[in-house]
Amino acid sequence: MTETPLKLLKREACPVCRFTDTRVIYRRRFAEDPVCEYLCLWYRGKAPIARFGDSEYVVMECPGCGLLFQRDVLDDEGLALLYGSWINPEASAQRNPIRARREGLAIARRVHALGSFLDKQDGPATVVELGCGWGNWLLMARAFGYAAEGIEIDDRRREFVVAQGIPCCRTPGELPDASVDFVYAQQVFEHLRDPLDVLRSLTRSLRPGGYVHIAVPNARWVKDNLKKGQFVGPRGIRRSLNPIAPLEHVNAFAGESLQVLGRESGLSVYRRRATFPPARALQDYVETIPRFLYGIVHGHAATSLLFRKE
Ligand SMILES: [Zn+2]
Repeated sequence: MTETPLKLLKREACPVCRFTDTRVIYRRRFAEDPVCEYLCLWYRGKAPIARFGDSEYVVMECPGCGLLFQRDVLDDEGLALLYGSWINPEASAQRNPIRARREGLAIARRVHALGSFLDKQDGPATVVELGCGWGNWLLMARAFGYAAEGIEIDDRRREFVVAQGIPCCRTPGELPDASVDFVYAQQVFEHLRDPLDVLRSLTRSLRPGGYVHIAVPNARWVKDNLKKGQFVGPRGIRRSLNPIAPLEHVNAFAGESLQVLGRESGLSVYRRRATFPPARALQDYVETIPRFLYGIVHGHAATSLLFRKE
C-alpha cells in the first residue's frame, strides 16, 4: 500500500523582507540521513518518512536581512498532523510536578516584569499570547490582573484555553484593530510560514504605544553548524542545529533579521530584553547568573526583543 505523499509549500522569497534573490545553503532529502535520523528520533517514529517521498529539506539564506529559512514547509494538513499527532498533545499536557513548579515560577517572573512598562496606563492592560498552547502564561497573566486573550492554531489546545474562561482565537487576523496593549510571542516566530504577515496582523491589533515581545532561538551559529550536519544532540548550546530543526523551526533569525521583521511591520525596538526589568530582586539575579555565564561561554539559547508601536 502506498501512502499519500505529504504536501509541501515552497517559499522562494524571504518570508521576512520579501527579497527574492535568496540562495540555497543546504539540501538533503527528508528520507536521507542526517534529516531522516533526526525525524525518527525527535518524533519517536510517529513522522511517516515514506510520505515525504523525494521531498527535500532545503535551507535558504537571504542576503537582504540575514534570515536562514526552510524553503519547503508543510501545508495546513501537514501542520495539523505535526502539532496534533506527531508531537503528542497529551504528553505535552502532562507535566512532572517539580518541573511544572519551576516553569510556573519562571512564567510568574516574566509576567511580573511586564509591570515595568504596562502599569503606566489606566485600567488593566489587554495582553495576548500568540501560540498560547495550553494557556499557562495566560492563566498567570490573568492572575496578575491583566485582561488575557490567546491565539492558538491547534483545536484541542484552543478549546482547553476557552474552557478556562480565557478568550482564544485561531489567527491574529480575528483580533479587533487597536485593541491590544501587549503581545507575547515566546518561541513562536521560528515556526511560522509567513512571519511578516502574522506580525503585521498583530501590529494592526495593537493600540498606539503597544508592545510586542518576540523571543526566538539564537541562530547565530546555524550556518557553520550546517556544515557539520549534526541534527541530533543537546539543544540550547552553540553547536546545536535546533534553531533550524526540520519542519518546525522554519525561520532561523540570524543577523539583523528579527529587527528587520519588526521594522517591516511598523514597529521599533524598545528593549533588547523584555524579561530583565530594572527593579528585579537580587535573588532573581543570583539565580540567573549561572545561566548567564553559561550563555557567555556557549552562546545564549534565545534572542529576545521588545518592540513598540509608535
Ligand atoms: Zn530577508
